Amino acid sequence: MSDHYVKVKVQLEQMKSFGEDAEKEGVDAEEQVPVSPIPAPVSPDPSSITIAGKDASNTSITCKHRGKSRIKPGKDDKNSRDKHFSDMPLVSAPVGKNLNRPGPERTLHIKGTGRILQGKSETNGNYLTIHPSKNIKETHHEDGFSLARKRRPVTVDTSKAKTSLEALKLSIKQLKWKEFPLGRRTACDIYWHGVSFHDNENIVSGQVNKFPGMIEMLRKINLSRAVRTMQELFPEEYDFYPRSWILPEEYQQFSTQIRMVKENDATVNPTFIVKPDGGSQGDGIYLIRDPSDLKLMVGSQAKQAVVQEYIQKPLLIDKLKFDIRLYVLIKSLEPLEIYIAKEGLTRFCTEPYQEPSQKNLSHVFMHLTNYSLNVHSGNFVHSDSQSTGSKRTLSSVLYRLTAKGVDIKKVWSDIIALVIKTVIAVVPELKVYYQADIPPGKPGPTCFQILGFDILLMKNLKPVLLEVNSNPSMRIEHEQEVAPGVFEYVPSPVDEEVKVGVIRDTLLLMDPGHKKHSVSSQLRSGAFEHGEEMPMEGETQEQSPDGGGALPSLCLKQVYPKYTKQFNYLRLVERIAALFIRFLGVKGNMRLGPTAFRTFIRTCKLSNSNFTMASVDILYIDITRRWSGAVPDSREAGMGLQAFLEAFFYLAGRRFKSLALREQVMSLLELCEAQLEFQSPSIEDRRSVSCSRALPRAIRTQTLGLSNPLLSSPAPLRRATSQDHRLHQKLNPRTLRANVEN
Ligand code: ADP
Repeated sequence: MSDHYVKVKVQLEQMKSFGEDAEKEGVDAEEQVPVSPIPAPVSPDPSSITIAGKDASNTSITCKHRGKSRIKPGKDDKNSRDKHFSDMPLVSAPVGKNLNRPGPERTLHIKGTGRILQGKSETNGNYLTIHPSKNIKETHHEDGFSLARKRRPVTVDTSKAKTSLEALKLSIKQLKWKEFPLGRRTACDIYWHGVSFHDNENIVSGQVNKFPGMIEMLRKINLSRAVRTMQELFPEEYDFYPRSWILPEEYQQFSTQIRMVKENDATVNPTFIVKPDGGSQGDGIYLIRDPSDLKLMVGSQAKQAVVQEYIQKPLLIDKLKFDIRLYVLIKSLEPLEIYIAKEGLTRFCTEPYQEPSQKNLSHVFMHLTNYSLNVHSGNFVHSDSQSTGSKRTLSSVLYRLTAKGVDIKKVWSDIIALVIKTVIAVVPELKVYYQADIPPGKPGPTCFQILGFDILLMKNLKPVLLEVNSNPSMRIEHEQEVAPGVFEYVPSPVDEEVKVGVIRDTLLLMDPGHKKHSVSSQLRSGAFEHGEEMPMEGETQEQSPDGGGALPSLCLKQVYPKYTKQFNYLRLVERIAALFIRFLGVKGNMRLGPTAFRTFIRTCKLSNSNFTMASVDILYIDITRRWSGAVPDSREAGMGLQAFLEAFFYLAGRRFKSLALREQVMSLLELCEAQLEFQSPSIEDRRSVSCSRALPRAIRTQTLGLSNPLLSSPAPLRRATSQDHRLHQKLNPRTLRANVEN
């Protein structure tokens, strides 16, 4: 044994005894691989993973047949995969293909010695490294054809992954990255959080799979507000979200409007769905046909909820209502990068659908597609096949529809448009949260996040957005009654197929060493055409960013900035948010104080003899009081973004009376941006966050929205008078209960 080898070993021992890497079992073995004749696995063999075991301390579930369904392509597995290939219009190679095969011999240099250690290379071209030791460095392996990459495995802290853990472990294993299941004292490249950005505090580098504020933004009320603001500006483009009212604030408007509709036409008898604000998994949801049926109070407190037009004519398959769970990755906010997973899930009701009537309003298995509800119905069908059962892959459903002659390319492009527009609606407020948690100049991680879009197809094939989940379940097991009254979690091939693919592709896109490649490899030029993003059977396999072709093709497809030209003009509120952020002043703040609001008015030269600074103060007080009145527990005083938007729309209405709302807002924005261009750099410096960069002038192209009277936007809540009761948005970031689907 050479001196250097001994030194390396000693260093490793020391690192371990200092607790450098928190975990002791399984994962750590990799660090000694180069000196071992047989490479140790990067993470524990999933066949030996028991969910009830240590790595899954947050759960108490047991897995059956884990190894069989995951690792060995057993008979059942193979059959289902073959079927998958013949059935799927969307899906490419199966997860797990070509994985774990031993790579060619490789070498490892010890710095300063010229000494080489022998080992096996990994299929993704990474070298195994002893990275805690400064004496040992990664190296190249050139075989004359390819240049292997000089880098250590990407490190992932999975200690907070919660119910995503199983799928995450499989993904990390497929990528041959390095997992830290108990966390790590030194920094990791990626931190995987199960719930929120704040699951792990004090992260100053790397990337976290959650954005600050995403949970709050996607709560039902806040999402409805964000979409409604867009509906006011772009009613046709945002007609994919059912008409909604926020309770309790809009109870009066809701009952008045419904009464008027009924008075106008006695044959009209609409149905509404009531959803508690922080709810998930169908909890607390009920249908009503009359405002008097609303349950407005919980004890002595008014219930926060959204009441929404119920889509009465959904598309049915096998006479059942179903919805689509689509996975969407926001890779970055600035620049905005959005990816959509080509493969998703569909969740089926378990009782044949009938249009709502007084008799069937309470039939949850008929009206609600939530898996968590339907799994308890006697009719729920667990199936290993992806095209039958109560949970199926999206591609199998699209395939069924194609067979019926449906133009699924059009459906798919409508879905892409819906996703991009929804993300554009929530980005402005997300940026406010982002700069508050990670102020510019302060060290902090960058963020990305997988979102779960719940989409319903109407009978006329128009996609409708039901909600967006900030914590889509990444479980790859499902609950099953194994004996009367005894439920266990058993592996779910359908979930595994879809979710492992989504997580693995997300990791690949976030790989710090491959960012450029992964983005550029997915960019395609060209116009937004129906179905362009929809790969059909026989599509050529796309190379994974590791260049080795060892992994299945990517299921995540970039849609933004790819379709910037088509959607950029919608990013108007983001530009107003940039103004707002610019004047926030204090780092970490999310609300404008009265002085900052005055500074904004002065800097943008918005006051004059008709609108004095005294009027400005009154406007500020009036709007801020109403908004903060709606949030009694609000800790931060001042004007939040939604209140600022109301003020901005009001100012726009005053200044450009003769124009339509969108033009009013656009004109005021351009005026403000022009003023700011000439301002002193001191203001610029105060808050020159990347988020505050003005976007290019909006580009107008044809819209994709299909007009549908059922889904027409609510009567615009015009903000041109301060008497308007624009409703408050909760901005209190950390106290809100997570809308966790797990
Ligand atoms: P949760 O977060 O509790 O799952 P959702 O908004 O997803 O709340 O609603 C639950 C289910 O109710 C959906 O999966 C869908 O089946 C049904 N649903 C929700 N909104 C509507 C609507 N506007 N029209 C018809 N069905 C709806």
